[in-house]
Amino acid sequence: MTGTGLRKGAQPFTPAVEDYAKTLYRLEQQRDAPVATGAIATRLEVSAPSASNMVRNLAQLGLVTVARGRGARLTPAGRELARAVIRRHRIIECFLMDALHLPWDSVHGEADLLEHAVSTRVAEAMWDALGRPVRDPHGDPITPSGDDDPDTDILEPLDACEPDAIGVLVRVSDAQPEALRYMAERGIAPGLPIRVISREPFGVGQRVLIGDTEHIIGPELGRLIFIERTA
Ligand SMILES: [Zn+2]
Repeated sequence: MTGTGLRKGAQPFTPAVEDYAKTLYRLEQQRDAPVATGAIATRLEVSAPSASNMVRNLAQLGLVTVARGRGARLTPAGRELARAVIRRHRIIECFLMDALHLPWDSVHGEADLLEHAVSTRVAEAMWDALGRPVRDPHGDPITPSGDDDPDTDILEPLDACEPDAIGVLVRVSDAQPEALRYMAERGIAPGLPIRVISREPFGVGQRVLIGDTEHIIGPELGRLIFIERTA
């Protein structure tokens, strides 16, 4: 955080500004193009006018540039802020699960709140205390992967894997708490070996061996599970 006006260790931005930066970062990652205000509004479940107001606010703070009619784009300072918030979020998730033993499916929601309240200094101390884990409880890298990071490229959604695919379940999307709960109840978690046995007809899904338990994984769930293929 040098040369951008951001004070190291301080939280100079409001939770709303941090959430907008994080959302823009995610949307930019999905399709490398300026993000329309409407897309931000939809993602954050706010009205279009309040999204445009907030984007203007971020522009004044030097976090985004806005091209008329084409949407917003994070500046390097905006991207740095988003990555810092995401890193704090993931460290907090690890801490809630490993140190406080909160259930897997609840840590994402709690971290969404705490990521704005815990300073970078405290988050880094948590990370040290945990032995500097590399991934969060859902398998996301603690340091968010940018476009230059191959990490996200080597993972394949389970849904796209053909029968006989073998690998390791590396990551599950934390976007749907109900899906996490469903997986937690069935012992489906990152770190387990995984093998696709067959694809059932009629859109039923895939018959999959995860650890030493067989599961039927429907397409909706299969899109939330990511594996690193070994064969
Ligand atoms: Zn999370």
